[in-house]
Amino acid sequence: MSNAEGFEKKIKVLIVDNDEHVQQQLKLYFTDLGIDNYQFESSAAAAMSNMVQQQQSYDLVVTDLNMPNVDGITFMRFLSKVEYDGALMIISGEDRRLLNSVVQLGNAQNLNIIGAMQKPFDRNELRLMLGQMQLSADKLACAPGELSLTADEIRQGLTRGNPEIYFQPKVAVDSMSVPSLEALARWCAEDGRILGPHLFIPVAEQSELINDLTDQVFIKSVEQLARWHGQGFICSVAINFSMRSLERISLPDTLSAICGDYKVSPQNITIEITETCIMNQEAVALDVITRLHLKGFSLSIDDFGTGYSSIEKLNKLPFSEIKIDRAFVDGAADSYSSRAILESSIAMGKKMGISIVSEGVETQQDFELLRELGTDYVQGAFFSEPIAADSVLQWVENWNKSSHSS
Ligand code: C2E
Ligand code: MG
Ligand code: MG
Repeated sequence: MSNAEGFEKKIKVLIVDNDEHVQQQLKLYFTDLGIDNYQFESSAAAAMSNMVQQQQSYDLVVTDLNMPNVDGITFMRFLSKVEYDGALMIISGEDRRLLNSVVQLGNAQNLNIIGAMQKPFDRNELRLMLGQMQLSADKLACAPGELSLTADEIRQGLTRGNPEIYFQPKVAVDSMSVPSLEALARWCAEDGRILGPHLFIPVAEQSELINDLTDQVFIKSVEQLARWHGQGFICSVAINFSMRSLERISLPDTLSAICGDYKVSPQNITIEITETCIMNQEAVALDVITRLHLKGFSLSIDDFGTGYSSIEKLNKLPFSEIKIDRAFVDGAADSYSSRAILESSIAMGKKMGISIVSEGVETQQDFELLRELGTDYVQGAFFSEPIAADSVLQWVENWNKSSHSS
């Protein structure tokens, strides 16, 4: 699951639109995206009364512009006045130029406007826009029924040898071989459940614990890579680093030393960098990333296209790979806007000599499109979910025997 997933489940949404058909459509799309805490109002006046008289608060307000009595622009003025600090999304049948002006207006009013969608819109456009929401760490930390670990539990778990590493194959589109796998952290809970990273990474990122966690994931991944090389499976491993864990000036030396201990070349390791929280020391992180590159590690910009991973970073740092976020990949075959983003990201990558990985590929249809557009590598449930380390060799053997590989 991506970071956004737990967040999507937890947000509270208010939808203001007098068109019943649009209400039904949004209901369907939101449910599909795992968002079930939504409320509809057919007029801005009713929405305003909810917020003022009933003191309701929302994480996201979606509003139409053209409504009887109180229109969307008046509603925006109200939201600004009450200092509404959640996200705002506009949906309207008006033309794009007007929608652009409304976005400018929202910015000028200090509203957190995440975009404007022209009706009719599709599920993927909605999903892309939701990706623009600034995900706050506390919301990311848990989904209903799934409690995030506490810092103490993480600290204790780290001394007992948690986390566990799962691996997800990355498939080369031209040869259909598996040159690399991504290491994804999992947590073994005391009751035997395997917990996803959204339940512990955001908490760890709030403190120094992220450093210990990252080091353990790195050591275990390199150890596993050395084991596979010893067994004749020559591959690379990609390891996730949040920006905050890169704020240690000694990191390039530490990671090189670990590689030396296991006789693994840094050339076989890709550092995937995601920015999920605010950095304290950007200059240190940039220094560290540049020296990691000098030591031979490959650098990849993860979740590309989301609010966190910007084109600006591509310009600043020696990345050799872009991982396009699954928000633009899943359902791309049916979405004009996802396709446009994929096309331009792939074209940009090619011009800069950077490899493109598309992650979150779930269907044959999306895979065909990605191949046609020229993506270099694909990753996703269509090929394999992340799997336990000791199942990987068997999976690779089956894959190589199957008709997928050449
Ligand atoms: P990521 O690095 O972008 O990893 C890809 C995520 O997408 C993984 O979620 C993977 O299981 C999921 N995924 C892959 N294919 C599909 C698909 O076809 N459909 C869907 N719906 N999902 C797919 P996971 O393992 O839950 O990891 C979530 C995020 O947690 C990762 O996103 C990464 O940012 C972070 N993470 C994982 N391990 C570590 C770690 O060791 N350190 C740090 N700092 N972050 C980590
Ligand atoms: Mg990653
Ligand atoms: Mg990613």
